[in-house]
Amino acid sequence: MATKKQNPKYIFVVGGVISGVGKGVTASSIAKILQDRGHIVTSIKIDPYVNVDAGTMNPTEHGEVFVLDDGHETDQDMGNYERFLNINLPNNNYMTTGRVYQGVIEKERSMFYKGKCVQVVPHIPMEVISRIKRAQEKSGAECVIIEIGGTIGEYENILFLEAARMLKTENPKDVACVMVSYLPVPGALGEMKTKPTQHAVRTLQSSGVWPDMIIARSKITLDEKRKEKLAFFCNVKQENIIGAPDVSSIYDVPFNFEKENVGDIISEVLSLNKKVSKERKEEGDKNKKAWDTFVKKAHTATSEIKIAIVGKYFDTGDFVLSDAYLSVIEAVKFSAYKLNKKPVITWINSGEYEVAGKITASDVKKKLKSLDTFDGIIIPGGFGSRGITGKLEVIKYIRENKIPYLGLCYGMQLAVIEYARNVVGIKGATSKELDDKATEDVITIMESQKEKVGNKNYGGSMRLGAYTAIIKEGSLVAKAYSDTAISERHRHRYEVNPNYIKQIEDAGLVFSGTSPDGKLMEFIELPKKVHPFFVATQAHPEFKARPLSPHPLFTAFLQIASKK
Ligand code: GLN
Repeated sequence: MATKKQNPKYIFVVGGVISGVGKGVTASSIAKILQDRGHIVTSIKIDPYVNVDAGTMNPTEHGEVFVLDDGHETDQDMGNYERFLNINLPNNNYMTTGRVYQGVIEKERSMFYKGKCVQVVPHIPMEVISRIKRAQEKSGAECVIIEIGGTIGEYENILFLEAARMLKTENPKDVACVMVSYLPVPGALGEMKTKPTQHAVRTLQSSGVWPDMIIARSKITLDEKRKEKLAFFCNVKQENIIGAPDVSSIYDVPFNFEKENVGDIISEVLSLNKKVSKERKEEGDKNKKAWDTFVKKAHTATSEIKIAIVGKYFDTGDFVLSDAYLSVIEAVKFSAYKLNKKPVITWINSGEYEVAGKITASDVKKKLKSLDTFDGIIIPGGFGSRGITGKLEVIKYIRENKIPYLGLCYGMQLAVIEYARNVVGIKGATSKELDDKATEDVITIMESQKEKVGNKNYGGSMRLGAYTAIIKEGSLVAKAYSDTAISERHRHRYEVNPNYIKQIEDAGLVFSGTSPDGKLMEFIELPKKVHPFFVATQAHPEFKARPLSPHPLFTAFLQIASKK
């Protein structure tokens, strides 16, 4: 029986007090709870920066650039949504200040506003709303979860809050606002403090938006006394204030939220018709069950598997962050849990394998030797020349010492360079990215990229998004995928130089996957009799790894690694 159609519901998620408080996981978890109840949901990320997309930002600045199927370069939270909801999201579901202004300016130039004076308010928030509505229409979602990046009180998200206010005023019953806030427990006091959250809520209220629910993030859970206080000072029902203490796995959060009635509270605030069709109910139940099994495995796996990620985007000031490789790390976790393994992931800066400053050749040798303690090593994507000598040293060591290897994008290009230099004997083998005058460019710029780079057209211009690859029958890669035609997401400007393929292949490296026309090398591997697992791809398979469908290539890699 069809259920009565109701207006689409919009749930804004905003952050109070500090950044990094878990808005993305909260937004994903709320979406997941509603999806498990059988609702059609979609998730939108709004980033307040002026960049048109995340593609032009350094990962140490912003974290991972998450690439969608349609090729758009977005924020890492889009990856969280895809992983929690097990769906592919389109470009419609992502916007930045830059993109919104760009849209308004393009419309203005085409007389869309019919001679009106185009103003920051209302036209910018109206553009935001029209983009939210477009994402809703395209997805057919009953519930749209919109995360507004940044922290309340920042100048740059004011226009997005104005959009939330306008949408809420227009549809008071269909729009809710959830504030994710931080409650510090200062060591010297030993008491959880609510005042910063009270201030954040007041600041939010001054934009004409009020929270219907507060998710109180903290080290420990929130007690009734502090709930009472927050309810009193923030005008939020006490039962709508939810304690969200730190958890060991973000994938526990949907379950914890359900325990705290988050789903019922949201449904009540929005008068959401809880009745869904039988099919959707069954699908929701099935998903929830599969998720519970996944979460259980994450907690019960005890046999360790040690994986090193050798990258270079780890440092921010005195702190080390792994955000730049978020999807890679999650992909390792999903496949490890599938194999009932507990992943122990170590991040290593490739600069540590380079002779420079205080690091001597003997230090590097020792450091390389310590790679033996890992069951498998990943070299993920990257750009530019910093840290590359170190990565090449690591690849040589891994290849010669038969440590399982998975190379992703740059990790494949560098494996080709290393092989060309040390096995094929092309001493000057390099990439045009490292030396644009190189003559032995075994990795070279793609024909389609030359003009773009020449014109400094860098934004959104790489080879981006999902492309099909044809896999060589009988290869390790074909075995991993159990298929010979696969699709993965990409983000690169350089490729294996076709002029060197024969020479490299004759020296033993197998090109085990190519673009359908056979021109672009998509996968490489060493035969099993030479190395237990030496596989790399030009693609970024990590973007398609999900809790409920771990990525086959990562699983194959970990399977071999676990035998080391
Ligand atoms: N820098 C390389 C290229 O542009 C690899 C990119 C990547 O690792 N994502 O081709």
